[in-house]
Amino acid sequence: MTRVLHVGAEIYPFVKTGGLADVIGALPAALRAAGADARVLLPGLPALTTVLRDAKPVGSVQPPWGGAAAELVEGRLDAPSLADVPVVLLRHDALYARAGTPYGDGSGHPFADNPRRFALLGLAAARLAQGIDPAWQAQVLHAHDWHAGLACAYNAFARRSHKSRAGSVFTIHNLAFQGVFARAAFAELGLPADAWGVQGVEFHDQLSFMKAGLHYADRVTTVSPTYAREIQTHELGAGLDGLLRERSAAVSGILNGVDDAVWDPAHDALIAAHFSAQRIAGKAQCKAALQQECGLDAQDSAPLFTAVSRLTEQKGLQLLVGSIDRLVERGGQLVVLGSGDAALEDAFRAAAKKHPRHVCLRQGYDEALSHRIFAASDVTLVPSRFEPCGLTQMYALRYGSLPLVRRTGGLADTVIDCTLEDLADECATGFVFERFEADDLTRALRRAFTLWSRPRDWREVRKRGMAQRFGWNTAAERYLALYHDIGREISA
Ligand code: ADP
Repeated sequence: MTRVLHVGAEIYPFVKTGGLADVIGALPAALRAAGADARVLLPGLPALTTVLRDAKPVGSVQPPWGGAAAELVEGRLDAPSLADVPVVLLRHDALYARAGTPYGDGSGHPFADNPRRFALLGLAAARLAQGIDPAWQAQVLHAHDWHAGLACAYNAFARRSHKSRAGSVFTIHNLAFQGVFARAAFAELGLPADAWGVQGVEFHDQLSFMKAGLHYADRVTTVSPTYAREIQTHELGAGLDGLLRERSAAVSGILNGVDDAVWDPAHDALIAAHFSAQRIAGKAQCKAALQQECGLDAQDSAPLFTAVSRLTEQKGLQLLVGSIDRLVERGGQLVVLGSGDAALEDAFRAAAKKHPRHVCLRQGYDEALSHRIFAASDVTLVPSRFEPCGLTQMYALRYGSLPLVRRTGGLADTVIDCTLEDLADECATGFVFERFEADDLTRALRRAFTLWSRPRDWREVRKRGMAQRFGWNTAAERYLALYHDIGREISA
């Protein structure tokens, strides 16, 4: 049974800024179900230390820069979806016991000591592969995003000096966030001098945690096959495409799954009425409830377009702004839940003011409302510039909302456009457009209205979408195979 330690900064339902939390909240449990001995290492953030049950100390880690040691405590987080997953928290209150997000003060300012905060996380992971906890020694470190990138570097150097026999996997959830810091931070991290260089953690004379993961991991994965190819191109490689091409034999894409325990309209406690592909009636109740909640006209005949998203350049919702008047003229409604760029928030707020019975902006982050929106929605908008995997289009399919997406990354891997031929072949599940341009999005919106005017076809496409299964078990099997490959390589 492979002992694999997942290392990251977020975990649903306690600490979440995006899809990363959903993955760390679901994949270890799926791996355990598939026969791995998986556990999770997280920083001791207040939202986690306060819900850790049955905590017991398993070791301590001395920061290379000196000062108080950090304590590793193992227990269970108090959530049904995590009941079977052992969790290790890295407790160092001076570094982690503070308000805000895992990365900053919550108003856009990253913590100045992030190099220390995340280096210590990586070092603790490497120590857990070296037997610091005699009861459980990791055989594979599975590091998620730049926050855990140094785990791969510390482990590689421990292997070089025969202190570790563990392998490592580094998963990119978003190549755009790289954890790049001034060179000065490198000196105190306890890495050997030869880690500084192009063949190491240096990125244009700065320290890059992302690069540490990409360079030192035995395998690099990302969260969809298409994104795995795209990041090896200049256009989407964010400056790291050269390294990724160099390592292409070690790079692969494994599509994320949907956690059925959280996202299932037949059992979801957060929505107005339950429904399924076979018993769809409850969906109309969900739509009526959301229309009322948002002050929209109570019309089942109006196609309800929705977006649950960070409002950032990446997510592409700026392409939608110019089409809102037309969307309303055609009889559509729009609900947006999200926050981010002030200009984009303002644009949606202005549209809601202009069309109060047809457009609604809910600014902020609201997990329960996001469920109500997917349940009510007819079309989920994800017009991203790039999208490593994207979870919302998969939630949409499950909840009977047709995704309208740009053909990029995981969106390209999960949605099939309603072209005449794909409708005829009975495989269409949504609307897909090519170029990152408002015109292309507008044409996709027109396809959505056209299909809406043909209710039988709409129902068929919706039913097909709801039958799609993006289970975590498939992803878990693939990761397991990867762990086995690495294990074989190391012991060869
Ligand atoms: P990313 O990680 O790039 O933000 P994903 O689609 O992979 O994009 O994951 C986003 C996750 O965050 C989904 O679970 C989505 O439902 C959730 N989410 C995004 N914005 C909000 C919001 N404003 N309120 C509630 N949930 C949100």
